[in-house]
Amino acid sequence: MSGRYVFGPVLSGRLGRSLGIDPIGARVCSFDCLYCEAGATLSLTATRRAFAPAARILDELTRWKDEGHEPPDVVTLGGLGEPTLSTEIAAVIAGAKELFPVVPVAVLTNASLLADPAVRADLAGADMVLPSMDTLVEAEYRRLNRPDPALALNAIRGGLLALRAEYRGLIFLEILLLAGVNDTETNLTALTDFVAELKPDRVDVVTMTRPGAYGEAAPVSGATLARFRHALGGAEPPHHAGSEASSGDDGDLARQLESSLARRPQTAAALAKGFGCAPDAIETALARLVEDDRLRRHDMGGETFYLPVWRR
Ligand code: SF4
Repeated sequence: MSGRYVFGPVLSGRLGRSLGIDPIGARVCSFDCLYCEAGATLSLTATRRAFAPAARILDELTRWKDEGHEPPDVVTLGGLGEPTLSTEIAAVIAGAKELFPVVPVAVLTNASLLADPAVRADLAGADMVLPSMDTLVEAEYRRLNRPDPALALNAIRGGLLALRAEYRGLIFLEILLLAGVNDTETNLTALTDFVAELKPDRVDVVTMTRPGAYGEAAPVSGATLARFRHALGGAEPPHHAGSEASSGDDGDLARQLESSLARRPQTAAALAKGFGCAPDAIETALARLVEDDRLRRHDMGGETFYLPVWRR
């Protein structure tokens, strides 16, 4: 099923098999980024409103669940525009967690509205927030993100820091680089200082991989990407697709565990059940992988989940 508000699941490079929720359902955004894969913004606004009632969105999500699909690795609020423009997101997050109690909920955001305490409060129920911050240089911000005129870069910076101080979940910061736009030394220096202050759980430095909204948008070279990643402590791109099938090493429990956990965080008990192994053998293998810094534990809802370290 693919409805107006629920789409996928899609294989996300950062999150695994992700079931998408678009709380707006239209090309409405507070930015009009050069690189946007959804095309040019049709309605540029920084004003929040309901767009669609949470009940209608959750109704679609319930129907998807009732179709009997395998649960996704993550439910992600994103879609065609900026999800935090919707005043319904807190109710949507709560409803998604009720429908899928062991599936984490993530929110993609351009961070533009985080200076608003109500927006930060609405995100409190999510397990992960994935904000963008492409540049801290004013001229680059105006050229690259083409924001609603009401949105000041300094306020966005402050909003992200306020989120870090208040929010209990994981923050995965994304920085997208465009050739000749925000790949400057000035930006790298500013971002380096900012990342040190923000202390996100993970930094993803990326560039365009698909056509953007405007012709002047072009990807940076691999060397530039590597330089920014190195300076900013960026994670290596995860490899989701195909790694399980290509491992060809069915007898190796540790590899199978890592491969499975790359797709979905799971508890030791669930893994033992899925693999048909004695719980002791699974516990021992997991402990070794944690010790080797290949997996990490994440406590949620009274249970301990295991996930790859690159998901920091
Ligand atoms: S913030 Fe996201 S959705 Fe909005 S224009 Fe930029 S890339 Fe597109």
